[in-house]
Amino acid sequence: MSNIVAIVGRPNVGKSTLFNRFLERREAIVDSTAGVTRDRHYGKSDWNGVDFTVIDTGGYEVNNDDVFQEEISKQVQLAIDEATSIIFMLNVEEGLTDTDYEIHEMLRRSNKPVYIVINKVDSAKEEVDATEFYQLGIEKYYTLSSATGSGTGEILDDIVRDF
Ligand code: GDP
Ligand code: MG
Repeated sequence: MSNIVAIVGRPNVGKSTLFNRFLERREAIVDSTAGVTRDRHYGKSDWNGVDFTVIDTGGYEVNNDDVFQEEISKQVQLAIDEATSIIFMLNVEEGLTDTDYEIHEMLRRSNKPVYIVINKVDSAKEEVDATEFYQLGIEKYYTLSSATGSGTGEILDDIVRDF
């Protein structure tokens, strides 16, 4: 089975922007397998010659943490079941939320490799703001600007090394 990287996180953190960036040179997988649902998008990408499948989760458009139990927790569980590696994306603009803690707890219990990525770090100011996320009790996070692609290489270097 090939390597599968799932991107999870609350609505609006930038998951689809990163997914599209991964797919720039490759193609989306449409209706490839039975069971592919409309709230998940699958695509092929590669880094330094290493191929992987990427899953964009979401579909819920409600920008409201109340949807956590029904939608986000379902998506996180599916990602845990399907993926070999998981990108947990957070948003420095909004900072840490209760839902972020809940997602992190689910992922921590999964035994899958999890890469914690703080998105929307577009400048040095956000680089400083991102230190707030150490409150999750984590030792390492990556900072990223999905909008420009800055930081993507460092994340992918580590992900493909762990395959
Ligand atoms: P999703 O709901 O997690 O899939 O988030 P989207 O990828 O749809 O992005 C939500 C919004 O954040 C969009 O308006 C994006 O243009 C914006 N966005 C995504 N990445 C970045 C980033 O790195 N910096 C900034 N400033 N905005 C971003
Ligand atoms: Mg999306």
